[in-house]
Amino acid sequence: MPEPSQPPGPELSEDALIARIEALLADPAHADNPLRDALAGLYRHSAQQRGRLERLVRISDGYHLFERASNESLAQRYDKQLRRIEKIARISDRYQNSLREVSEALKEAALRDPLTGLGNRRFLIERIKEENQRCARGGGGYTLALGDVDRFKMINDRYGHEIGDQTLCEIAACIRRALREYDLCGRWGGEEFLIVLPETRITDAAQVVERVRAEIERIALPTVREPLAVTASFGLTEYRPGESLSDTVNRADVALYRAKAAGRNRIDSV
Ligand code: GH3
Ligand code: MG
Ligand code: MG
Repeated sequence: MPEPSQPPGPELSEDALIARIEALLADPAHADNPLRDALAGLYRHSAQQRGRLERLVRISDGYHLFERASNESLAQRYDKQLRRIEKIARISDRYQNSLREVSEALKEAALRDPLTGLGNRRFLIERIKEENQRCARGGGGYTLALGDVDRFKMINDRYGHEIGDQTLCEIAACIRRALREYDLCGRWGGEEFLIVLPETRITDAAQVVERVRAEIERIALPTVREPLAVTASFGLTEYRPGESLSDTVNRADVALYRAKAAGRNRIDSV
């Protein structure tokens, strides 16, 4: 008669089950039990499977750890590269800004007379060409005045080149003070200055230039000898639409020559 099957007991834990099987296999009372060999085989098989499972779990854990570490280091490397790129972008911005400043300063310096701070001949040529284009588009004309320091060679000879330079700076300041905001002026070369009075007929321009002449006459540079008297002569002419810059300047030069011939320290116009 087969034994009635035992009612199922509480589920054993894996460790408890293994301990029980080991105890059954070790018990000499069951040495002849026909199921003993099968149980022993099952036990070995199960032990092998557990070993295999543990190795798999260890490999899988190691793999996850490695993956997390490499993901972290990838994110860190990405952050580092990003910061490096941002830094390079900032440096490049600063570099471009200073390059722009240098090129603007160079451009500015190329158009400025270093002694007097006025625009130089190149500046004047550029601006007068612009004025001519403005006139060609229907804008009003302008009067041009060419000024030249009287007997400047003598000032240099008598007081020295340094006083001569100071005189030129004083004259530049007089011109700046006497002109209106929209008038143009610059150092044409040596002791010659050029003034452009836009939208101004020659009679009105003559009044402005006369103010400049009177200002120059009042310059009193202190020297080791007597106070230095400085004067300048001016030649004025109106721009004629269509003519070239040298046409206008040559005509102003003719007027200047006449002012010199008539005794200097005066203005004349053509
Ligand atoms: P005039 O009344 O006929 O114009 O006589 P001037 O002596 O002024 O004319 P001239 O052309 O004989 O002499 C101009 C002098 O200007 C000669 C030159 O050495 C001097 N000069 C030109 N540029 C400068 C400068 O930058 N500084 C100084 N100190 N002198 C200069
Ligand atoms: Mg001269
Ligand atoms: Mg002169």
